[in-house]
Amino acid sequence: MTAQLYLDGVTRSFDGFKAINNLALSVDKGELRAVIGPNGAGKTTMMDIITGKTRPDGGEVLWNMDTDLTRLDEARVARLGIGRKFQKPTVFETHTVEDNIRLSLKAPRGVFASLFHRSTKAEETRVTELMDQIRLTHLRFEDAANLSHGQKQWLEIGMLLAQEPQLLLVDEPAAGMTDAETMETAELLKSIAGERTVIVVEHDMDFVRALDCRVTVLHQGSVLAEGSLDYVSARDDVIEVYLGR
Ligand code: ADP
Repeated sequence: MTAQLYLDGVTRSFDGFKAINNLALSVDKGELRAVIGPNGAGKTTMMDIITGKTRPDGGEVLWNMDTDLTRLDEARVARLGIGRKFQKPTVFETHTVEDNIRLSLKAPRGVFASLFHRSTKAEETRVTELMDQIRLTHLRFEDAANLSHGQKQWLEIGMLLAQEPQLLLVDEPAAGMTDAETMETAELLKSIAGERTVIVVEHDMDFVRALDCRVTVLHQGSVLAEGSLDYVSARDDVIEVYLGR
């Protein structure tokens, strides 16, 4: 299978310090991938490089093996179908759950025009499907401000899905969630993968275990290990990095 996202030899320094150091990563279309690693391992910088927020000093970042993402800015990367969810949820607090989804639908008119436009049947069907997928149908008429932290995270994931991305990058979605919400989030991300590619950066190992996917361990800006969670977590070098011995 050809990689949908392919990084090779990627390097990025800040003031002479190599935050990303000869990083190689290959993610297939439809794959769910967890990226873990101690603080400072380079996870955020990696996401910034993929999304065009930060330009690497060297190396390749290829989309579908034919488009070099390092030459594109954030807006152009987003238009290729690469969506990013930051850690903190960002929703329209004074709008209902369904309006948040509706206003996020991929549409040529933009948000302002969408407020005054009557939705088509196809758009309403998509809103219903997305609310169902993020498990918020019972709260469709509730203002987003009244949702729990976990529900806001799911709503924002729904808003990103409404943009129909091919690749979704998700930064620590389980942070601040209850155990039950954490497990539901794992199920949600698993339901998204397959149709789309999902890369999740996460610290919570119970959550990573529930994702049940290939895990990439970053350390000092490079891949230290890759494989199942059981495999990587049993490796001496990974244990050493996590325990700081
Ligand atoms: P992680 O997300 O895994 O915690 P980061 O990508 O945030 O790691 O950071 C990797 C390293 O790069 C850290 O040592 C951090 O201090 C450094 N770094 C990241 N961004 C910058 C920046 N804009 N300026 C200087 N140093 C940075």
